[in-house]
Amino acid sequence: LDNCLFCNIVARKIPAKIVYEDENTIAFNDINPQAPTHFLVIPKKHISGLNDLNDENLINMMHLSKTANQLTKQEEIAESGYRWVINSGKDGGQTVFHLHLHLLGGRNLNWPPG
Ligand code: 5GP
Ligand code: ZN
Repeated sequence: LDNCLFCNIVARKIPAKIVYEDENTIAFNDINPQAPTHFLVIPKKHISGLNDLNDENLINMMHLSKTANQLTKQEEIAESGYRWVINSGKDGGQTVFHLHLHLLGGRNLNWPPG
């Protein structure tokens, strides 16, 4: 989508520090990192968020999982631990309406979240 920030990152119309890319997914540094490792892993295909997952596009969640796991190994946080976060809607704190998995690690992460 022309007016979608993350579609524009996929299209290289908006710069980002891209750390991984394949035919289905792209991952880049969050502009406002909340941990030493804070990547956003997104499908190249525009899906607005969790509510829009369906039988046809659910495969993209599998692609996100695979990419996230590759990145934890690359960052060497697979063993120390990390967190996946997907915010949804107003109460969930979603601000960008293109599905994205936050991959956070490199420090002890607090629980419960705010
Ligand atoms: P949400 O709040 O929707 O779960 O997450 C959106 C995330 O996108 C936030 O963590 C925010 O810091 C990040 N973000 C917003 N604008 C940009 C941008 O232009 N570039 C990058 N790399 N990250 C962004
Ligand atoms: Zn998009």
